[in-house]
Amino acid sequence: MTDTIEVRSPIHGTILGTVPNQPPEAVAATVRELREHQREWEAIGPLARAGWLRALREWLLAERDRIADVLQRESGKPRAEAEIELPFVAEAISYFARHAREFLADEPVRPSGLLSAAKRMRRLYRPYPVVGVISPWNFPLLIPGADVITALLAGAAVLLKPSEVTPLTALELQRGWREIGAPPVFAVVTGDGATGAAVVEHVDYVQFTGSTRTGQAIAHRCVDRMIPYSLELGGKDPAIVLADADLDRAVRGIAWGALLNAGQACVSIERVYVEAPLYDRFVANLVDYVAALRRGDDRVPYSVDLGAMATSAQHAIAQRHIDEALDAGARALTGGGNDDNDPFLAPAVLVDVDESMTCLREETFGPTIPVVKVADAAEAIRRANQSKYGLSASVWTRDTARGERIARELEVGAVNINDTVTNLLEMGLPHGGWKQSGSGSRLGGAAGLRKYTRQQAITAPRIRALPWEPLWFPYVPRKARIVRRLLAAVAATGSALLWRTPEPKREAL
Ligand code: NDP
Repeated sequence: MTDTIEVRSPIHGTILGTVPNQPPEAVAATVRELREHQREWEAIGPLARAGWLRALREWLLAERDRIADVLQRESGKPRAEAEIELPFVAEAISYFARHAREFLADEPVRPSGLLSAAKRMRRLYRPYPVVGVISPWNFPLLIPGADVITALLAGAAVLLKPSEVTPLTALELQRGWREIGAPPVFAVVTGDGATGAAVVEHVDYVQFTGSTRTGQAIAHRCVDRMIPYSLELGGKDPAIVLADADLDRAVRGIAWGALLNAGQACVSIERVYVEAPLYDRFVANLVDYVAALRRGDDRVPYSVDLGAMATSAQHAIAQRHIDEALDAGARALTGGGNDDNDPFLAPAVLVDVDESMTCLREETFGPTIPVVKVADAAEAIRRANQSKYGLSASVWTRDTARGERIARELEVGAVNINDTVTNLLEMGLPHGGWKQSGSGSRLGGAAGLRKYTRQQAITAPRIRALPWEPLWFPYVPRKARIVRRLLAAVAATGSALLWRTPEPKREAL
């Protein structure tokens, strides 16, 4: 294990910074410190916590150009893509800070039966003390940002372990938290996979985003430790293009959905199923459109559409999927070959492909668009569902009602009709994968904060206590008979017949 990690530009290979490769002892010590301050953080309540998060938002917005520079340099993205991550995090702060009090308020519970009829009962949402957020390199601010701010608002202390490929942006988040003078309940540890594994050993909840392979290993360890986890994993998202689709919109939308961040997005479109009547025109237009996209180093901002592959390993996986498809008889109508030393992999439109090929079966995480001709929507649905992944999908049709019916047949966590990625931009919608694409979800309104909490039930007397309790000792025949009759009557008729308590008001903290 090396002591430091050099962060390099994926475009030029130059060293952009050096970060410590923190050993397990350092992770344990950081968790101990966070734990010390978490109780007070919880105790100040959601309104005060929202105040700190809003201060962070102001700091981020003031620093947005500099942070976009850092993010662009370490990820190799086009400028336009480097600039959208920070506003997303700022919006997440605005939304969840506005609703934190409401989402985390104690909830009164009405008696469901006789035995609790005399009780005042509440459900509380109490935070896990320390949440570990482990994040990938493809969206260095957006992904960890969304998880960190929601966990902090929920009242947890948060330890973030960013990818070793892009830790510099995450360190900016930590710098901001320190510069606004916020309580020491958020820290970043840098390092490789071993540092991430140490995070899993010490925190009380793991929020992981990354590959399915790493996610499975983390889930096993969480089960051993009996701690909860939420996994946002890989995908192989299908797009279904019906014969009545708006051709121009489908081509532009699918090209963007497949090639955003050079295809290095979990929700990247990686399979396209097109109904036969539209297939030829769709493919011809897509090839023309993709071939005209500009790729390269976006030194003059907004002069390219596609940036670099973030790592040579990811470049090699995408190239292998293309090569294996071509070897098995597929054709690349644009792209397809690349010099290993060129970080800007040419986007490939692949045809004559089938599910025996890795390009349609495994997550590529690169700029490939395999297109398949299908007889009808039923075949498209069947083939779309024939995947171990189930992250998201899109349906392209002028008949949106039909699009929605198809959406209900797809085994994925989200479906966008005539669009792509949109569900991720709405804070009220959950973002989570089905099947091997994940477990749990992020954002999604109240659930986005409550996932970082444990429910606690509290009961207290609503009226003065009876001189005797029906269920307590001693067991004597007369009392037992009364209790038995009463319980049977209530169980048979429902408690509503016995008392009518008005709907209690929710109490905000
Ligand atoms: P990895 O699974 O390789 O790594 C993710 C994070 O886990 C990194 O911080 C990594 O550290 C860390 N890590 C590695 N090994 C361990 C371990 N044993 N224990 C704990 N942490 C560990 O994913 P990538 O970074 O390559 O990201 C790409 C993947 O992320 C793709 O599969 C993509 O689909 C998925 N993804 C899913 C999203 C979703 O929301 N569903 C969103 C974005 C990406 P290090 O980098 O230092 O190795």
